[in-house]
Amino acid sequence: MLEGKFFSLIDPTFMLIAHSSPTILFIGGHDPTGGAGIQADIETAVAHHCRAYSLVTCLTAQSTQNVQRLYPQDRCDFLQQADVLLADVNPDWVKIGLMGDVDIALAIADILAELNKPVVLDPVLAAGGGRELAGPALVRVVNQRLLPFVDLLTPNQAEARRLTGRQKPQPAVERLLDQGCGYVMLTGADESAGSQVMNTLYSQTEDPYHLTCPKLPDVYHGSGCTLASACVCQLAQHREMKEAVQAAQHFTWRSLETAEKPGQGQHLPNRRFI
Ligand code: PLP
Repeated sequence: MLEGKFFSLIDPTFMLIAHSSPTILFIGGHDPTGGAGIQADIETAVAHHCRAYSLVTCLTAQSTQNVQRLYPQDRCDFLQQADVLLADVNPDWVKIGLMGDVDIALAIADILAELNKPVVLDPVLAAGGGRELAGPALVRVVNQRLLPFVDLLTPNQAEARRLTGRQKPQPAVERLLDQGCGYVMLTGADESAGSQVMNTLYSQTEDPYHLTCPKLPDVYHGSGCTLASACVCQLAQHREMKEAVQAAQHFTWRSLETAEKPGQGQHLPNRRFI
């Protein structure tokens, strides 16, 4: 009797609080260092007060120096994990990172077709340490099957060239937008020579929107994951696209400015500040 009364009293408030956080489904790989991948996604979501659901595409063997090996999930296992989760919860946004395998990428295309939610895709094709993380077949699946679902794509310069086969940034971006994604944020840190880093947001309807920040001195593992995750968190909080990428870049820059070097290799972002 008392128990029934207690729950009927707290339930409405509890339900209000429980449903107030934006929810994001993160689909990506596990990085044991915690610098990149699903751990980066979840830390970024927590810092933005968003709720993270996660589906792991692959495990990896890696250090802060480089990725040694990918261990993709079995396609059927992955799809079953998605089925069970998505029969229960209904994420507001989806963010996709490392897929690591063509079969998993095709499974993700099936999930997106059914889910019909806005998507941020970070096309992770190679690790900062140099290891290839996607072959030509996976690049084809991204182009043909995934880009039409994508609201915001966040390639670096090398990824834009590999996805499109076009060497210059502008034609590469035009090709990506023609494939069906709404916005492309082309990041510049991987090839910037000067003292500034410039990222540019493109769409088919608006002028390019340039965002600059001072270049930081170290080499970072997980900066691209952090940026794309911060973008999806901002978008899930109903920020308009330009405002979202601006805030996400600021968050990422701060996480790198306060980065730590826990191992022998790259620095890892610090996403724990609020
Ligand atoms: N491992 C995983 C699981 C990732 O998701 C990524 C990037 O998204 C990497 C490694 C490579 O990260 P970076 O290029 O920052 O070194």
